[in-house]
Amino acid sequence: MYPAEFAYERPSSLDGVFTALQQNPGDAKLLAGGQSLLPMMKLRLATPAMLVDLAGAAELRGQWRTDSGVRIGALTSYRELQRSPRTLSLLPGLADTLEVIADQQVRARGTVGGALAHGDPTADLPALMLALDAEVRIRSRGGERVVALGDFITGIFSTDLADDDVLTAVDVPLPPPSTGAAYEKFEQPASHLALCGVAAALAIEGGTIQHARVAMTGVSATPRRLTTVEDALLGAAADPSSLDEIAALAPHGVEPLNDLHAPAEYRSHLLEIATRRALHRAAARAGMRWTE
Ligand SMILES: Cc1cc2nc3c(=O)[nH]c(=O)nc-3n(C[C@H](O)[C@H](O)[C@H](O)COP(=O)(O)OP(=O)(O)OC[C@H]3O[C@@H](n4cnc5c(N)ncnc54)[C@H](O)[C@@H]3O)c2cc1C
Repeated sequence: MYPAEFAYERPSSLDGVFTALQQNPGDAKLLAGGQSLLPMMKLRLATPAMLVDLAGAAELRGQWRTDSGVRIGALTSYRELQRSPRTLSLLPGLADTLEVIADQQVRARGTVGGALAHGDPTADLPALMLALDAEVRIRSRGGERVVALGDFITGIFSTDLADDDVLTAVDVPLPPPSTGAAYEKFEQPASHLALCGVAAALAIEGGTIQHARVAMTGVSATPRRLTTVEDALLGAAADPSSLDEIAALAPHGVEPLNDLHAPAEYRSHLLEIATRRALHRAAARAGMRWTE
């Protein structure tokens, strides 16, 4: 399959990107790693008249330690993150998540900005970023705004981005000290995308859970936090049977997707299992001790 004809520009700065967008209102699409956009264009699911390649905008590359956490530039590839021991050590669960995204080729090209901007309900990174309370930084000619990731994702392949917006970076605050995190995924075997993925981040003190974030992807129209599970975890005993009981709450209030890849009941079932595994692994990493 070949894409429809399109024009191509590769500005050498973010300002140049805004100029290109302004000159082609509504007709242009931003190109990052191309790992989602190009397949969509080949299938004619997207037919932009122009591609504005972000690759020349050096401002979008890099990883920085901020006062509250880590800022990751939108053009940072999955592989660059995998090769960044400092970022991996600061953000629990990140190494787990990157490892199960696609394959080496896709990880070499796919970017953090593209992964979040695409709004794919089955993408892995959004689940972990929700569990780490990430915010996205968005720039347009008019200025900059910062949006919590949970508000940024608005529907299936739908986000808070306007046509002339560029997602420039993701800000990830450091979780409480000694937080343990994990990502568990059941994948669609052909695409590797998540049929169900769950990220959990837990901090435990004196045998009880003091901080809990649990988020899922692949199951419903948008990746989102499982607040019923989080509420039950806070103050609960950090032992295996409590975690199992709480994991059983995961499907409550979730409307699972029902498509050719998996029926809704199956996704619900996977959600409970992935939640249980993620909670156990996160708790073990947070220092939970038990004897069985
Ligand atoms: C074979 C294969 C297997 C895959 N398996 C997985 C998997 O297991 N798990 C998973 O999570 N993903 C998977 N993916 C998807 C892959 O991770 C996505 O391509 C990637 O996350 C998107 O990033 P990108 O840089 O390639 O974005 P692009 O494809 O370049 O862009 C995607 C969309 O985001 C927009 N965009 C990109 N960057 C910005 C920005 N900075 N600001 C505003 N808009 C922007 C583009 O205009 C476009 O609409 C797979 C892809 C392939 C091809």
